[in-house]
Amino acid sequence: GRPEDLPRGPGRRLTVLSGPSGVGKSTVVAELRRAHPQVWLSVSVTTRRPRPGETHGVEYFFAGDAEFDRLVAEGELLEWAEFAGNRYGTPRGPVLERLNAGVPTLLEIDLQGARQVRESMPEALLVFLAPPSWEELENRLRGRGTEPEDVIARRLEAGRVELAAEKEFDVTLVNTSVPDVCRRLIALMSA
Ligand code: 5GP
Repeated sequence: GRPEDLPRGPGRRLTVLSGPSGVGKSTVVAELRRAHPQVWLSVSVTTRRPRPGETHGVEYFFAGDAEFDRLVAEGELLEWAEFAGNRYGTPRGPVLERLNAGVPTLLEIDLQGARQVRESMPEALLVFLAPPSWEELENRLRGRGTEPEDVIARRLEAGRVELAAEKEFDVTLVNTSVPDVCRRLIALMSA
């Protein structure tokens, strides 16, 4: 995890971390922020309401529908998707700036977004974060306790579809331990 482990220069690939909702992507990302500050994490725009503890500009930029429409219309999003009734997108400018500056860059996005990045930036490294088992995923989604049952049901359904998408990715990391996943992710970004 030393900064010098990471290659510099324009040849570096953009890394995309995706996987089913509830698999632990945001926990992995939080640990990466803490342990590997040399990695730049893209901050997405979303129309979802902030959860307790979330800060505008840190986990997300929270936007209204009209603002999100404007970003789409003006081509300011590298990719965007609707997920469980809300829209999420990656601001294009900041990502390209970081890549051009040789900063290791990570997107944490859903499967639909990962597919769009695959199309528009074929050199990107797509990493699938998989749960140790389906039961584990369901428990995590329910255990979070932040969403009403109908939202959980929609997320579980999305998760079933997303699990089948693993084969579209370059690499799978099984989320057995957060520090371990972070180490393996950093190693992939350095390869
Ligand atoms: P949550 O509401 O739990 O924060 O995120 C829901 C889902 O949206 C997660 O699977 C997360 O990876 C995904 N997501 C977050 N930001 C983006 C984004 O910018 N684009 C896309 N396509 N998905 C995103």
